[in-house]
Amino acid sequence: MLDQTSHDKETFDVLAPLNQEHRRHLMYTFGHDESDIGSNYHYRALATAVRDRVTHHWRNTRHQFATTDQRRVHYFSLEFLLGRSLNNAVQNLDLEESARNALHQYGVQLEEIADEEQDAGLGNGGLGRLAACFLDSCANLQLPVAGYGIRYEFGMFHQMIENGRQVEAPDHWLRDGNIWEIERPEDTRTIKFYGRTERYMADSGKMASRWVGTHDMLAVPYDMPIPGYKNQTVNTLRLWKAAATDEFNLEEFNSGNYPDAVVQKNNAEQISMVLYPNDASENGKELRLKQQYFLVSASLQDVLAAWVEQHGEDFTHFGEKNCFQLNDTHPACSVPELMRLLMDEHGLEWDAAWKITSSCMAYTNHTLLPEALERWSVALFSRLLPRLLEIIYEINERFLALVKEAHPGDTALLRRVSLVEEGHQPHIRMAYLSIVGSFSVNGVAALHTELLKEGLFLDFYKIWPEKFNNKTNGVTQRRWLSHCNPLLRDLLIETIGTEWECDLMQMEKLAPYADDAAFQKKWADVKLANKQRLAAHVLKHTGVEFMENAIFDVQVKRIHEYKRQLLNVLHVIHLYDRIKRGETKDMTPRCVLIGGKAAPGYHVAKLIVKLINNVASVVNADPATKGLLRLAFFPNYRVSTMEIICPGTELSEQISTAGKEASGTGNMKFMMNGALTIGTLDGANIEIREKAGDENFFLFGLDAQGVVEARKSYDPNTIIADDPEIRRVMELLEGGTFNMNEPGIFDLLTQGLRNPHDQWVSIADLRSYIDAQTEAGATYRDQAKWNRMSILNSAHSGWFSSDRTIQQYADEIWGVKPLRNV
Ligand SMILES: *Cc1c(COP(=O)(O)O)cnc(C)c1O
Repeated sequence: MLDQTSHDKETFDVLAPLNQEHRRHLMYTFGHDESDIGSNYHYRALATAVRDRVTHHWRNTRHQFATTDQRRVHYFSLEFLLGRSLNNAVQNLDLEESARNALHQYGVQLEEIADEEQDAGLGNGGLGRLAACFLDSCANLQLPVAGYGIRYEFGMFHQMIENGRQVEAPDHWLRDGNIWEIERPEDTRTIKFYGRTERYMADSGKMASRWVGTHDMLAVPYDMPIPGYKNQTVNTLRLWKAAATDEFNLEEFNSGNYPDAVVQKNNAEQISMVLYPNDASENGKELRLKQQYFLVSASLQDVLAAWVEQHGEDFTHFGEKNCFQLNDTHPACSVPELMRLLMDEHGLEWDAAWKITSSCMAYTNHTLLPEALERWSVALFSRLLPRLLEIIYEINERFLALVKEAHPGDTALLRRVSLVEEGHQPHIRMAYLSIVGSFSVNGVAALHTELLKEGLFLDFYKIWPEKFNNKTNGVTQRRWLSHCNPLLRDLLIETIGTEWECDLMQMEKLAPYADDAAFQKKWADVKLANKQRLAAHVLKHTGVEFMENAIFDVQVKRIHEYKRQLLNVLHVIHLYDRIKRGETKDMTPRCVLIGGKAAPGYHVAKLIVKLINNVASVVNADPATKGLLRLAFFPNYRVSTMEIICPGTELSEQISTAGKEASGTGNMKFMMNGALTIGTLDGANIEIREKAGDENFFLFGLDAQGVVEARKSYDPNTIIADDPEIRRVMELLEGGTFNMNEPGIFDLLTQGLRNPHDQWVSIADLRSYIDAQTEAGATYRDQAKWNRMSILNSAHSGWFSSDRTIQQYADEIWGVKPLRNV
């Protein structure tokens, strides 16, 4: 211990003050002298200087990890939507002042420099951003948790809008290098694919299985630091890159087939080449299954290797000392892969291996949409991962035997819960595999967990009620309040101190100020400044001018039918119709912002993007709407843009069909920043409304039960015919007002709205939605009332900190405690 401390001191002394380090990196790492240096070099030099300081604490935390005997958690996720790291590191290491000073001598601003950083967009949306918020909270709470993911060469695509339509461009985020990663080739792992299995006589004299004739490839780890908030803890996110086993395949090379040898190398590297851009929908592609197995096998081998180094081949306590949290079913191969490694590589018997595996796996479900439940064809599995398929079959056989014993004769039940979905093309049900292999199964909001227990997973809930639990999602207030809203941060600190930064429940102290006129004025000033910043951003990226006296009404999230951006557009068309009919008395000026990416293969979602843009063109160009209504589609929505959008938002649109949004986390970011929510009783909206108070939330629409009921006799055409305002909206839409020169392009959307089988029942909720919007508009005109409601929303947002969520994971699932610094 003494040794380590003195060694650290020495290392830290190597680092000069930040301004000198910045200058040194500028000159010697990047080879630039003082004149004519662009912001990008300043970014790289400053980031490197900050990174060096992070690295110092990182070493200490790693050393503590290596020497502790505590249980450790490994968070497995195919997605980590990190966004930018510089500001986060500057904030968490308390370096803002010295960073500003370092840049001051060059006459540049920190904001300008930070804007040079590419977002690390290694995720689609909510699920990936949740993983990033969780890592932040784990480091803040000093928990021994490491993230494991894939280092995609290409992250989430860049979205451009051309003639109103989404066009995708690749996101080569690593082009200029990544300052926040350290390659660790010494921890490279070998991953097997294809081949076959065979039985053989092991040294122990027992028959065993092995996986032979495989195509092997390498997984090379790159570590990213996850700094805790002013606490000297730096946790690790380990991302794997795929590589060929040999730089050149010797055989091919020697036979003169040099190009083929190089092609093989490229094939191996494909595995970590690109993030699949599907959110909330399954993707049956072979490469995707390869990615999943690649992550899982590399990460489990990594954890086992560390175990063996510390404990040798004694796995007696492995299950108690490790926990694997599976972020959805994407890493579900962890269950059979840990079994394989324990049995085939470390010689354990089935029962011992199963006892370990099923005591350290925990599964988080993220969706109720049946189309998002992963299933892999048995044919693909047996070709790609034959040994895993064998193990899955045995898990299933043993599981079904237990079910049979408890429910003799119930063959329907056996068929329902089988890990193998029988049929012309049998499939493996990855969610069921995850449930059977885990000791914990959690949903991500109270409603979501209840719906899982009474619907999708009912049979399993009856078998193992004790496995099921809820962990309502949260977001980190350090990024989603402190960092992204410095004006509000300063007002909060001036008013209630700083405790909320690590204990968001302290925001309750704001509640007494809700009616304080002087405080309301300060609150409104902050919001106005953030609206101006957002308006400038919208103007720059869309050309649309937002009026600062208007209510800023925002819906940003992935474009998906269940999230019902269409409903939002229908309301805008309704407002346009009112304006055109001169019905503008008591109309609150409104600026509507919609943003989000559509999966490239999701035709309807892309059409919705086109509709939003077309409606925006017509509405914004019509002189009648001046001063009253604007609509803009914000292109390329991502983490760094949400950091500008959520502080400037006044009305947060959370309007999914009830029972479809598992939780939502965008709703929480908006609430913290003082937006009021207009929303359905879906996901975490329910808890947001409970905490904020019913009177501080604009509720509309059917609840989850109501949606199920309504579907039985849903008749949208009658609703449209009977409501003159809705009828006119449909007439505008169907009459070609928004597609004069492109006849028929939106027919698919209008037909969907009129379809009695429309899953999303948009027309059922439209009247209620319009009325709630009218009420929101009316409330806005009473600014004192609005500000009061806004303050109370922030004040009651404490529950939605990911610190609270992670504390619950730590206490109720993982059983881990903080590792304090020495
Ligand atoms: C928070 C966030 C999401 C999730 O938004 P929802 O409204 O919960 O779907 C998606 N993408 C980005 C970039 C985010 O920051």
